[in-house]
Amino acid sequence: MATRPATLPPKVITLDDYIPVIGAAEIEEMRSLARRLEGRTVKMVNSTAVGGGVAEILNRLVPLMQDVGVPTRWDVITGGEDFFEVTKGFHNALHGAPYEVRWEAFDIFKAYQVQNRQQMSFEEDFIVIHDPQPIGLIEARGNGSRAHWVWRCHIDVSKPNPLVWNFLLQYLKRYEAMIISSPSFTRPLPISQYLFFPSIDPLAPKNQELSEEFTRETLERFSIDPKRPILTQVSRFDRLKDPLGVIRAYKLVRKYSDCQLVLAGGGAKDDPEGVQVLAEVQEAAANDPDIHVLDLPPWSAPEINALQCASTIIIQKSLQEGFGLTVTEGLWKKKPVVASAVGGIPLQVIHKLTGMLVHSVEGTAYQIRYLLSNPEIARRLGENGHEHVKENFLVTRNLKRYLLLFLLLSGAPA
Ligand code: UDP
Repeated sequence: MATRPATLPPKVITLDDYIPVIGAAEIEEMRSLARRLEGRTVKMVNSTAVGGGVAEILNRLVPLMQDVGVPTRWDVITGGEDFFEVTKGFHNALHGAPYEVRWEAFDIFKAYQVQNRQQMSFEEDFIVIHDPQPIGLIEARGNGSRAHWVWRCHIDVSKPNPLVWNFLLQYLKRYEAMIISSPSFTRPLPISQYLFFPSIDPLAPKNQELSEEFTRETLERFSIDPKRPILTQVSRFDRLKDPLGVIRAYKLVRKYSDCQLVLAGGGAKDDPEGVQVLAEVQEAAANDPDIHVLDLPPWSAPEINALQCASTIIIQKSLQEGFGLTVTEGLWKKKPVVASAVGGIPLQVIHKLTGMLVHSVEGTAYQIRYLLSNPEIARRLGENGHEHVKENFLVTRNLKRYLLLFLLLSGAPA
């Protein structure tokens, strides 16, 4: 049996490990930026330690900030089921999905902000709050405090539900700056807005090179045939990721081409809808042994890596999306990606250059069929996609942006 790539205990990765990926000069530049922040500290806060893109980014970014000499703490807020139901509703509403207003939702949200504020301390110089769930922690910022508070918004808030947006605005206005993932997410606001691309870590278990043996064994474990084309979407089981739409597209493809579909996902602590969506997906996939619905535990990074590496095509048929790190991961693995033109995906998938952008179930099926019958074009898209990620969406780039932002906010010369 192939050894499973170790995730625990983690190898301590240092910035120098990235020299083969981005070169020594870039690394030295980051170290020199960090030296100018000497003595400053950072706190990152979000709402889950596992599951979803934000946890994925912080997991890799925070140790690098430490390594570069900027002490960084990562705190996760707590909340009951009632809180996460409210915040998931807010999340969907901010993405423009229908939202049924329950006035007590706002009270529940406020109560957990107070509770978390009381349990936490905020002594750091830079406090970065990720997404709406902990946005109200800003009320802990005392008058005359020297700390710089930044709200890092990972979701597409270009067309939000006005009621939810206006509610959050009371908190947002008190921040010094907001970070967004795409130029199209800017909002008219009285505070500065900065563009940061989310990132993946090429050295993480999710993205590092795997032995062929481990990949083969992973397919075997999930009864996936390595000799037939594999279409894969990795996503939380969430309606906005449209897993049912992926199944419909696969069924259209299957009328003409042989292939298998893998829908791999898992839950996130701050996403209470997952169980129900998974049940709907399992029902839609029943009776077709070529659809593999995999409900994976949070420690499945090597398996997800193997599934992505073994795929013929990576799909991300989201109806709404923040950025879509699963797309970044697919591109990094040189895979042809077929993905919806929503949220930050068009920044990654440049149509016909680094992948195929789609707008419907039929369009998804059409592009999959096209790529299955044109493997040379598929290969070239994957190569281009890899270069695009290397240039723009690696964790080292994200680290550099944070260092520059902190220098800017503290008034130090960059
Ligand atoms: N992911 C995972 N296990 C799962 C589903 C997703 O590890 O079961 C990872 C996925 O590989 C990616 C991240 O979670 O790194 C999802 O980020 P994305 O931006 O695509 O979507 P989000 O979940 O943040 O909306």
